[in-house]
This record gives sequence, structure tokens and C-alpha cells, in this order.
Amino acid sequence: MDRRRTPARWLTPVSLPALTTATPAAGGRAVSREVLQGTVVTHCLEEVRAGLGADELVLWRLPRDADANGVPATNAPVVMGPRKAIAAAAWVTPEGTAVEGRRRPPTLRAQAWMPAIERALAERTVQCEGGEGKVTFAAAPWLVAGGDAYALTVWAATGLRVPQDMVHQRLQRAASLTAEMAHLVQTLRQYERQVRQANVLVNSARMFQSKQTIEDLSQTVCRDALQLTSGARAALVRWEADAHSGIVQSVSPGHSIEVGQRVFAKSVVGALCSEDQSQPWEDARHLDRSTPIYGGGERLVPLGSLLVVPMKQDQRVVGAIVVEGDAPGDVRARDIAPVRTLAAIASASLDQLWRIQEARRASITDQLTGLYNRRQFDEELIQRLEEADRSGLPVSLIVADADHFKRVNDRYGHEAGDAVLKMIAGHLRRGARDNDLCARYGGEEMAIVLPGTPLLEALEVAERLRRAIDARPVLFGEERIKVSVSFGVACYPETVASHGAIFPAADRAMYGAKSAGRNTVMSNAVIDAPAAI
Ligand code: GH3
Ligand code: MG
Ligand code: MG
Repeated sequence: MDRRRTPARWLTPVSLPALTTATPAAGGRAVSREVLQGTVVTHCLEEVRAGLGADELVLWRLPRDADANGVPATNAPVVMGPRKAIAAAAWVTPEGTAVEGRRRPPTLRAQAWMPAIERALAERTVQCEGGEGKVTFAAAPWLVAGGDAYALTVWAATGLRVPQDMVHQRLQRAASLTAEMAHLVQTLRQYERQVRQANVLVNSARMFQSKQTIEDLSQTVCRDALQLTSGARAALVRWEADAHSGIVQSVSPGHSIEVGQRVFAKSVVGALCSEDQSQPWEDARHLDRSTPIYGGGERLVPLGSLLVVPMKQDQRVVGAIVVEGDAPGDVRARDIAPVRTLAAIASASLDQLWRIQEARRASITDQLTGLYNRRQFDEELIQRLEEADRSGLPVSLIVADADHFKRVNDRYGHEAGDAVLKMIAGHLRRGARDNDLCARYGGEEMAIVLPGTPLLEALEVAERLRRAIDARPVLFGEERIKVSVSFGVACYPETVASHGAIFPAADRAMYGAKSAGRNTVMSNAVIDAPAAI
């Protein structure tokens, strides 16, 4: 290093021209990597460090006070005194340099140096420390126009090789130059990020118009949420304000949460949906995990940062976008704004599809029990029978009728009767397999369609259900209501030869069970046997 250089020359960073020729204003060209990576700042710092004979130079950024959400209040004055945050914008040592990385300066003394840094900023003059005419530490302030405060600190274990007045002069000039450059770099980075985010959002808006299914749409939301932030995983939650609960609708690949996970009102996401509040945790490592993020049974994976942004439609919270980061700072407060825009773009389309889905669900289900209704039962039964013809596999049908149900109503009241019907429906639902279909086709008459199931297996299912219901009285207030059910079973093509014959056959078998004393399972093969002979 040439120590005879004039100050003016050594303050000129070699890469400075890149800063002026490669800005977006210069013909809309992309900002150079050098500028974005901030190496223009470290080049300059390195020359100053070598010139002063220092061990380390650190350019600190002291952001203006932020509000509760970590969003800088734009009109806030630069406040002196205790700072909420101090970050090394760039630093150089003989061993290496770094810019805003996660690595910290090797001799980080933010606490020890803070008083001198604060003093330098308050008095707007360079502060020097040391003894025997040698400066070991100095701090020079610089306030960028309308923005953050910066301080350039220099440290030399055995003292700087230049006298104190020279340190003052050089450090102050270096502070002004590097702080302005660092500020410019940061502004350009923000600009680049905003352009990138705007592109993602414009693209999202376009995509949402062409997406027709809830799955497609919600996957796009998760993917775009990750593109807008530096998050590792994203989830889209559907929230039902009336029910005070939600469900995970979609997750990005590799997420620890599964689609369909219930979201509790008392979870982190549930509480924020209830309150309609966005919340970032830039450092989520110490988040109290005894409260679930989503709901019960979720896997406890380490979390570096977290962002929850509710999604609204017509003043109602209809969902939330949840972004998780592996490391602290991967997801930040500043991500709220773009993620909120994404939520706003997505919510109209999603809410519309959710309403259509809800209306369809209501039209095919029985309100009291949640089982399929008569219309859906008839349609599905025909479809399953047609599938059976194609696959060559049998279809069984179980019909179930509560025994002496009128007496339940008469004795305990209609509400108790309803509770009994719900209980029976619950048994049927739990006893059925995934591709079986449970329906309530009459007052106290229910059915299960069992595709791919021969008669014997269907009889076993019915017998298991009969026993389970018989063994469990329904608790209604103080009452323990004993209930039993009669079951009739038929199987196509095993016990009936045509599609249209299966329901009457199962119904006949059920009445056979009634005649045989109720609380019984009967196959139509038994009932119809005499007629067949
Ligand atoms: P059986 O053992 O022969 O089937 O006798 P039962 O009393 O169960 O049969 P019945 O057909 O005489 O009575 C059915 C009763 O179910 C009559 C009706 O009031 C009642 N019911 C029908 N739908 C509902 C409902 O949604 N809620 C309640 N609580 N009762 C219902
Ligand atoms: Mg009946
Ligand atoms: Mg009955």
C-alpha cells in the first residue's frame, strides 16, 4: 500500500465509477453486482484501514426508531440516546471484509463502543480514545439526508500510525463518503427488491385470473409468498371467523405442516386471524412454543423467523398467509407490505371459490349429521354401481334404522332425538373407510355405500357398528339414552342382480332385522332366500 498518497486520492475508491454508470437511471440497466454487494464500500474502507494502520474499521448503521411492527416511522427524527438496533453495514480487517452478512465483525464491541458512538453522533464530531499520543479507537459520525445515522469506527490494538488530528480529518471524510455510499447501496437494494416484488405481484394477479381450482390458487399463493420474502416455507390458512377456527389449505413443498391441519383459535395464527393483525417475528427462536403456531399435533421444527399476515375479504378475515424462515431475519417486518398486497390480490378469487365450495357442500350434506343427503346418496350410489360394472368389483350397501326411535323423542324430547341421530352418524362415519360413503337418506335412516366390498365384509362392518352403538348410551343432559340400530345389507352383484335392486333389497333386509327383534344385522340373501327357491 502506498502510504504517500494524498488524502484526496486515497479516498477515491477504485470501483466508484460502477456506482454512477450502472444505476437504473443510466439507461435502465441493472444495478451492478458490485454496487449491490456493497463492495464499493469495503474497497474504500480497506484503503482507509491500510492508510491509518488500523486493525479494524466498522461502518455502523443505526436505523431510525421503528414502530411496534419494526416499520420505520418515516417522519421520525433521528433520535439520539439508546438505540434499538445497531448493525455493522460493512467492516474490514486484515483477514477479510464483509457487508451486511450474518457474520459479525471479529472484534465486535458494540456495547463498549456505544457510548463513544452515541457521543460522536450527538456532538457530530469525531471521538478519539487512546494514550501516549496514540489513538487506539475513534468514532466518526455521519447522518445521511432524511435517513439513518452512520458511524465509522476505527480500532488498532497498538495504536494508529497517524497523529490524532490526522485521524480526525481522515476518519470524518471517510465516514461521510462510506456512509453515503452505504446508504446509496441500501437504497438501490431496496429499489431492486421492490421492483422484484412488484414483478411477483403483477405476475400473481395475472396467474390468479387463470387459476380455476382452490388447490391451484392456494399453491400459487404459497409459492409467491416465498418469492416475495426470503422465507423457507409458506402456508395458506383458510379461516372461518364464525367458527373461530381454520384449516391449512395449502403448503409449500417440504413444509412440516400438512394440508388439512386444524388451526385453533388459541394458536399463534388463530389469534392473529381473530384480531385481524399482521405480525412479524424477525427472530422467532425464542418464541414460546407451548402455544402452537397452527394447532394441535403439529411438529415442532426449529423456527428462525415468522410472519403471519391475515387475508381479508369484505371486512372479514377469511384466511392468512404464514411464512417461516430458517434463520432470524429471513422474514422481516418490511415483508408485511408486499405479502399483504399478495393477500389482497388472492383473497377475492379464493373467497369466491371457497363460497362456491361451501354452497356445494351445503347442497349435498345433511345439516344435522353432516352426512351426505338423500339426493347425493342417490347420485353416488348410481355412480358406484356403474364403477362396479367397469372394475368387476362388488359394491355393498348397508342401511341402518334406529330402533324405537319414536320412543326416544317421546320420552326425552326432539333435541335428545337429534343428539342420538348425531351419535349414530358419528359411529357410521368413523366405522367407514375413506372411499365409503355415508348418508342420511331419511328421518332416522342412514346408509353406507361400500365400493369394492363383498357381502361378508359389509356384514362384518355392520355388526361392528351395531355392537359399538349398542354398547354406548347417548349422554344427554342427565340422561343416559340407550339406543340400538337394525341393519340391512345387500351386495351387487352378489345378492342382487341389478343396480335398481340393491336399495330395496337392503331395506327389506333391515325390516327383516326389525322383525327378528331389532338390534340385529341381516343380509337380503337370508330374507330373499325362500323367494329364490
Ligand atoms: P322402529 O324400531 O320400527 O324403526 O321404530 P321407530 O320408532 O324408530 O320408527 P318410526 O318410523 O315409527 O319413527 C321414526 C321417528 O323418527 C318418527 C320421527 O318423529 C322421528 N324423526 C324423524 N326425523 C327426525 C329428526 O330429524 N329428529 C328427531 N329428533 N326425530 C326424527
Ligand atoms: Mg324408519
Ligand atoms: Mg326406526
